[in-house]
Amino acid sequence: MSTLYLVATPIGNLEDMTLRAIRVLREAPLIAAEDTRTTRVLLDRYQISAPMTSYHEHNKLGKLDTILAALDAGDVALVSDAGTPGISDPGYELVVAAIARGHTVTAIPGACAAISALTVSGLPTHAFVFEGFAPRKPAALARWIEEMGRERRTIVLYEAPHRLAKTVAVLADAFPSRRLVIACELTKMFESVWRGTCETARDYLRSHTPRGEYVLVLEGAAPQPAETWSEAQVLNALNARLAAGATRRDAVRDVAEQAGWNKRDVTALLHASAEPAERREDF
Ligand code: SAM
Repeated sequence: MSTLYLVATPIGNLEDMTLRAIRVLREAPLIAAEDTRTTRVLLDRYQISAPMTSYHEHNKLGKLDTILAALDAGDVALVSDAGTPGISDPGYELVVAAIARGHTVTAIPGACAAISALTVSGLPTHAFVFEGFAPRKPAALARWIEEMGRERRTIVLYEAPHRLAKTVAVLADAFPSRRLVIACELTKMFESVWRGTCETARDYLRSHTPRGEYVLVLEGAAPQPAETWSEAQVLNALNARLAAGATRRDAVRDVAEQAGWNKRDVTALLHASAEPAERREDF
């Protein structure tokens, strides 16, 4: 069995090649590249002369058998034009097919525009969602905006320069006050990271014509207020506090705060629930 190496390449700055990526590409019997001319520039820079074949969006299914046959005969390194193969780039189908054929699939990690933008954004990184490019068709875009309205994690998006202003305008209409970061030309000479809200981003783009490559990082939706408790939940909590020795006043105060109820309603519920017992005591 052979190994399919998924080799990350720079997203702009040619120095962002790992030593391991250089060695794997040097030793690979075959490099499958999204655009062989683009990859040639990189290979020349590192004096790599391995044979190349093209593997891109438009031949990724037709070329599958050829690359699988090459894998049967020896290792294959997959590279895309920039960054990590399989991330908004060809790779997924080949990975699935190579796994099914029993080959080893190994990542040679490196640059990825989404991760670079997320980490410099200043928005929460502990949970995020990568959305690739936003849908273009109006109906799909509307559904997507609705979904993003509920999305609590930080959202990372790719966008082409000629569509950036339009996409930001859609985000500004839907989420004016959410924070938005526009990361441009990462790792390159004119790298910039703009931070503001969706609304101010729309204004910013009115006076700055987008040029280059962009990642958008959008703040997730604010947490919803805690769900209001049902009467049964409030009563259970009250009984638990009273059984633990709390005074009625303390139990009402604590449970009201936890449950999102006002104290008067909690007191009324406590009285109502106690009524039959008190009446029994009266007899
Ligand atoms: N596989 C790549 C990766 O790992 O990032 C992404 C390829 S995708 C076809 C190309 C998109 O990535 C661009 O349209 C842009 O949104 C983003 N991108 C790539 N390089 C970038 C850079 N240097 N700065 C900002 N965004 C970049």
